[in-house]
Amino acid sequence: MDIRAGEHRLNLKAQRRGEIEKYLKEIGEKPYRATQIIRWLWQKGESDIMKFSDLPLSLRKKLAEDFFVHSVEPVSIKKSSSDGSIKFLLRLFDGKEVESVFIPDGKRRTVCVSSQVGCPLKCAFCATGMLGYKRNLEFWEILEQVRFVRDYVGERITNVVFMGMGEPMLNLDNVFSAIDLLQENDAFKIGARKITVSTAGIVPGIYRLLEYGKQVKLAVSLNSAIQEKREKIMPIARRYPLSELKKAILDYYRIKRRWVTFEYIQLPEVNDSEEDVRALERFIKGIPCKINLIPYNSFEGSLFREPSEREIERFLRKLYRLKATITLRKSKGKDIKGACGQLAYLK
Ligand code: SF4
Repeated sequence: MDIRAGEHRLNLKAQRRGEIEKYLKEIGEKPYRATQIIRWLWQKGESDIMKFSDLPLSLRKKLAEDFFVHSVEPVSIKKSSSDGSIKFLLRLFDGKEVESVFIPDGKRRTVCVSSQVGCPLKCAFCATGMLGYKRNLEFWEILEQVRFVRDYVGERITNVVFMGMGEPMLNLDNVFSAIDLLQENDAFKIGARKITVSTAGIVPGIYRLLEYGKQVKLAVSLNSAIQEKREKIMPIARRYPLSELKKAILDYYRIKRRWVTFEYIQLPEVNDSEEDVRALERFIKGIPCKINLIPYNSFEGSLFREPSEREIERFLRKLYRLKATITLRKSKGKDIKGACGQLAYLK
């Protein structure tokens, strides 16, 4: 809950629908007013309570006495000169900052959101991991990223991917509350099928996503199907080995019937050999999936180099023999350092 120092008022955006309804009941108002309030906050992006014009003036005044509305503030906005993507650095109420990326592609308008400030998982290739972990984002701070980007670009957002800073499966309560409102007709109206939650392989998180029951897409950042190698580049693999990860993914597919996306960052001479492809072939056996190849983007201080065009082609040719749909992720936002694994306030 966002309470400002010395303030008796609460942040209205930090209230879930049920909490707003409870408050309205307490002050003798009808619960349907909650829908109107949610529309003003999330659909229209209005932060001045006195402008909620379809509410009676007396209710607006009462709301303004009890609540304030906090919005994220832009610190920097960088547009890619090549592909239309835009990277946003946004300041939260406590001064901490997160990054979000807008990715236009055909008719799709995707926002890649952060779920934590920093990340505790320390994947060796990741700029965010190098920052360390600061805190989880509240559900409304996740929504604020989508709201801010939508209002800035002036277009309806069609897709949301939880692939920005942080591991969403370590903050699932807030991720689920955010998804609830992303889906709401009175807020963002984005179907669950258009929302992707990506994980570095937190097995209990995959089961919680399964229990959550919505048709959200699962993406797994795999990067190696060889246990020892994966442990080196993604330390979380020690806690959740590939065998357990595969079982959880199969269970997810068995119940949801939704293809899983594997993200595979190509680290040249590290995870792109023939042996790596054979291991990957064994790992994906029985999992209807898509493999998204992401050529590594290096940054200052990074431990790996970028693959050359020839290395990417050679690896792709090996991957094409697998029973999976292979896609090469054009590194959207590369010139603004908004590409995968680069969200770490890089200039
Ligand atoms: S790749 Fe994802 S899980 Fe790994 S350190 Fe980076 S943000 Fe965290």
